[in-house]
Amino acid sequence: MPAPSTGDPARRSRRFVPDAGTGGTADPADLCLVVAGRRLLGGAHGPLPSVADLPAETEWVPLGSLDGARVWATGLPSVDERLGDWHSWPALAGRLGEPLAALAGRAMQVITWRRTHRFCGACATELADVPGEHARRCPACELYVPMQLSPAVLTAITRTSTAGRPQLLLVRHTYGPTAIWALVAGFVEAGETLEDAVHREVAEEVGLDVHDVVYFGSQPWAMSGPGVVLAGFTARAATQAEPVVDGREIAEARWFDLDDLPAELPAAYSISRWLIEHQRTGRSDPQ
Ligand SMILES: [Zn+2]
Repeated sequence: MPAPSTGDPARRSRRFVPDAGTGGTADPADLCLVVAGRRLLGGAHGPLPSVADLPAETEWVPLGSLDGARVWATGLPSVDERLGDWHSWPALAGRLGEPLAALAGRAMQVITWRRTHRFCGACATELADVPGEHARRCPACELYVPMQLSPAVLTAITRTSTAGRPQLLLVRHTYGPTAIWALVAGFVEAGETLEDAVHREVAEEVGLDVHDVVYFGSQPWAMSGPGVVLAGFTARAATQAEPVVDGREIAEARWFDLDDLPAELPAAYSISRWLIEHQRTGRSDPQ
């Protein structure tokens, strides 16, 4: 199997390196990401706005560097239409491609984390920023509160039908975009390996035993809340294996011939789709 390339920064033509900065000020020409709730501001003159497009008093949070140039983010209490057009992260990410899509996702995650982690969970004192990190510390009880990531797994399960045809298992969820045929997915539990999570989620959601679980690649994902990183896997099921859905999370699960997949698939900019296309075409690079 060829190595997946989509999550590999070394194969991106432009390089984004996340950091939390160590001082310095935003230059008017620096790129910036402006977040309001679940929306991101698009650029008037390019794919993303520049620091000069925002008011001078804007407070900037460092995100990292893109090809050596600083990139900044800020959060607004609500969408301000006067600044330009606002987009959901998946819509903007689909248009931007890598590495700007990941950069926009990081902005959304950092800004959301800062907005939702203001007070100590142990003693309710207001937290203070830790310089050089996306982390906060409680000045009263010293509790350290880093920006944590939530790993989740998703799995493209294939089998060979009794007629000898390669098939892919797709599911429809009872929530979210219910028309989309998606992959089995779920969050990793504390104490589990990623592979354990694949076996457990597949058993829970569609009642199948799978084997040959192989890592495919990963994608930071800003849709499911702050700090989600998706790890994609492929796995095999037995020829006779038939899914059983619980009806709570999964409404429907069905085997599709790989050369006759439904049209309602996950967005092109998603590791779900890259996994599906990888199974369909044998190629690992969707772009
Ligand atoms: Zn405290």
